[in-house]
Amino acid sequence: MRVLVVGGGGREHALAWKLAQSPVLETLFVAPGNPGMESLAKCVGIGAEEIDALVEFARAERIDLVVPGPEAPLALGLADRLAAAGIACFGPTEAAARLESSKRFTKEICDEAGIPTAGWASFTDAGAARAYLDEHPAPIVIKADGLAAGKGVVVAATDEEAREAVAAMLEGGLHGASGAEIVIEECLIGTEISLFAICDGEAAVFCGTASDHKRVGDGDTGPNTGGMGAIAPPPAASGAVIGAAMERIVRPALRTMARRGTPFRGFLFAGLMLTASGPRLIEFNVRFGDPECETLLPLLRTDLLPVLADAARGRLDPETRLDWRDGAAATVVMAAKGYPGAYEKGHPIDLAGVAGLPETTVFQAGTARRDGALVSAGGRVLAVTATGDDLREAIDRAYVAVRRIGFPGGFCRRDIGAKAV
Ligand code: AMP
Repeated sequence: MRVLVVGGGGREHALAWKLAQSPVLETLFVAPGNPGMESLAKCVGIGAEEIDALVEFARAERIDLVVPGPEAPLALGLADRLAAAGIACFGPTEAAARLESSKRFTKEICDEAGIPTAGWASFTDAGAARAYLDEHPAPIVIKADGLAAGKGVVVAATDEEAREAVAAMLEGGLHGASGAEIVIEECLIGTEISLFAICDGEAAVFCGTASDHKRVGDGDTGPNTGGMGAIAPPPAASGAVIGAAMERIVRPALRTMARRGTPFRGFLFAGLMLTASGPRLIEFNVRFGDPECETLLPLLRTDLLPVLADAARGRLDPETRLDWRDGAAATVVMAAKGYPGAYEKGHPIDLAGVAGLPETTVFQAGTARRDGALVSAGGRVLAVTATGDDLREAIDRAYVAVRRIGFPGGFCRRDIGAKAV
């Protein structure tokens, strides 16, 4: 098969790394890719959001399967355009991608499908929102309806905080059009995990659980980031939890999306709260997580390419079971100093010290080559993943690798997985 992966971050490096191991692969392309992928794939100088150029490239190169990594090209209709050109794509249409781009849409799907989630109401009028808050005291959660770069959610511990969030979004224009409508929802209490499924429009195959570390600082302090590390599987993700989440959340969502004429195809990412009454949905994303993808794929034994190819064509065998290495994995993200605020680019990176370390893979994200040398070129720069017989071993191996990486312009959290062990 001739395959095109779209994107240039750590998640896409992990996807390319996994697909490159497939015996059914003929040629692998990545657009735009990054220096870490050069030995695995042909990197093509097309940005992930250049939809016209991506479709034209896929047509000219007779691509059999396109695997988009990030959500942006999906929200821009990449899958729709490829379908019109007769090219298989493992990713949702623009209409199905609303599961990520609108919180109210997801809530409506939950209600229609009977999916357990937080009680909710949506508002465009601040007065009506305040009246609702009078009836629903804190703790309570205020969310901008649209995409807000991970900053659109306020978990309000007090009534004052809740009122401030309502005023900021509906009256203060915070988050612009994305916050012109808000969802107010019940605050769920429990342990948070992420669950992934490979979907073909009807069938869903379980593709692992993980838990990420969103805050920039040790002990979950400081601002939110794209993700500073992850572990898999989280200790709370028992077989019973996974079964309940697949049967009560993932499969009902797929049935409802299909019944509405917008079947969901691609990686479905369910953010779950494990509550006293079982798993409840916090949010859907329409793509693999980053860094969860880098954490999970090194544990996966099954050849991913035929599974994604079948799913992209709506022919996933619902009995498919992916085979995983026993044990666990941990990913430590190395970011540029200053991230998620302002940071410098162009700092040298030396990866020579990690060669030969057991069960360790360094996925590259914000990197570039300058005069032949590897330098930083983004906020999240490296995703250092290790597997082991248990979580402790995986974490220890990942931090051994971190210590051997030369990246004086970078930093990482020192407590990835610490809570879980
Ligand atoms: P989201 O962007 O919807 O994933 O929300 C970001 C974070 O806010 C989640 O990862 C949770 O930690 C938290 N959160 C969102 N919704 C709720 C809720 N209903 N109850 C408790 N925490 C929530």
